[in-house]
Amino acid sequence: MPDSALNTAEQFTPQPVKTNLLGLSVSKLGDFFEQLGEKRFRATQMVKWIHQMGEQDFDQMTNLSKSLREKLHETAEVRLPEVVSCQDSTDGTRKWLIKVEGGSCIEMVYIPEKDRGTLCVSSQIGCALDCSFCATGKQGFNRDLSTAEIIGQLWIAAQSFDQFAAKAPRRVSNVVMMGMGEPLMNFNNVVDAMNLMMEDNAYGLSKRRVTLSTAGVVPALDQLAGVTDVSLAISLHAPNDELRNELVPINRKYNLAQFVESAKNYIEKMPDNRRKATVEYTLMDQVNDRSVHARELAILLKDLPCKINLIPFNPFPGSDYKRVTNTALNRFRDILQGEGYTVTVRTTRGDDIAAACGQLAGEVNDRTKRQQRYKNKLAAEEVPIKLLD
Ligand code: SAH
Repeated sequence: MPDSALNTAEQFTPQPVKTNLLGLSVSKLGDFFEQLGEKRFRATQMVKWIHQMGEQDFDQMTNLSKSLREKLHETAEVRLPEVVSCQDSTDGTRKWLIKVEGGSCIEMVYIPEKDRGTLCVSSQIGCALDCSFCATGKQGFNRDLSTAEIIGQLWIAAQSFDQFAAKAPRRVSNVVMMGMGEPLMNFNNVVDAMNLMMEDNAYGLSKRRVTLSTAGVVPALDQLAGVTDVSLAISLHAPNDELRNELVPINRKYNLAQFVESAKNYIEKMPDNRRKATVEYTLMDQVNDRSVHARELAILLKDLPCKINLIPFNPFPGSDYKRVTNTALNRFRDILQGEGYTVTVRTTRGDDIAAACGQLAGEVNDRTKRQQRYKNKLAAEEVPIKLLD
C-alpha cells in the first residue's frame, strides 16, 4: 500500500465516541466509573459537579485526581444541546429554541409566577400522536430525545438564571413534561431524566414539583406506576369517546374508561394519599365547551381523585379551532365547581412569543408526511407562518 493511502486511512480513523455523562443517572455513572477502574462513589461527585454546580470542564473538578481527569478527557464529555435563541415575553415568560443532534430544534418554556417558576420541558422532537388542536402534532415526528437532551433543558434553564452559583435562588422550582412530545412514548429516557430532576445531589426537586403529562398511552401509564410517583396530569379534552376520538386520536386505541382507570390506579399507588391527578381540558369554542360536556365530565371523573385545569385553546397559524368565549368558560367552570370539583383556569402566558400551551413547534425534520400536509394546508389558505421555512 503506498504511503499516501496509509496516511489518508489514518486521517479518517473515526474517533472513539465519548460517553456523554450529562444524561447518566447516579447508578449508570457508578457503572461508568467502575468500568474505568474507579470507585462507584465518584458518581455522586460527578452528579454534583454537573447538575449542582453546572460544571462541564473536567479540569475544574478539583476533587478528582489528575489521572482520573485525564482518563475522563479520553473517554467522556459533558455535552449539552445548543441554544439557538432565547426570547422573553412581556409577561416574563422565556422561550428557548434548542438544537439537538440531527439538526432539528425543540422548544422549552419558563413561566414565572408569584410563588414558583415552572419549566415546561420537551420529551420528543415533534409528536406522533397528532392531536387535532396541537401545533406540535402538525410538525410531524422525528425521534425521541435522549436523557441528556431532556435533562440538558433543565441544565440550560438553570444556567441562564445563574442558579448554579452558590446559594443562588432556585428560579426553576417546578418542571412539567408538557413541552413538545408525548413523554410516555419515550418512557425510559423520561424516567431517567425525571429521576435526575429529583435526585438530591442533582436538582433536588420534590416529586410533587415534577409533573408528567400524558394524552393517554395506557400501558405505559400502568407501567409508570411501578417506577415513579411524580405528579400526574392527564390530557382529556373531551368527556366521551366519540368526541375524544376526533380530538385525541390515541383514544381510538385506549379509550376514556381505560385511561381514567389507569390514572386512578397510578394515583392510588402513590404513598401520599392526598395526591390528585390534574385533568387538563382544553376548551374550544363550540367543540367541547357546552354545558352537556361539563356535566358528562363531572360524571366521568367521579371516582378519580383530581383537580381540573381548564385551558382556553391557544390558536396557531392554520388551526381549525377558536378560543372558548369567556361566557362558555365561566359556565363550564361553574358546573364543575357546582359538582364539587376544584377547578383552575390556566392563564395564557407567553402568547406574544408563541410560547403558550400547544403552540410549541420548534423545527422538526419530519419523518412522517404530516408537516408537508400542514404546510400545504397553510399555503392553500395563504396563512403566513413564521416558524416554518
Ligand atoms: N403529550 C402530552 C404532553 C403535552 S402537554 C400530553 O398530551 O399531555 C401540553 C398540554 O397542552 C396538553 O394537555 C395538550 O393537549 C394541551 N394543548 C395542546 N395544544 C393546545 C392548544 N393549542 N391550546 C391549548 N392547549 C393545548
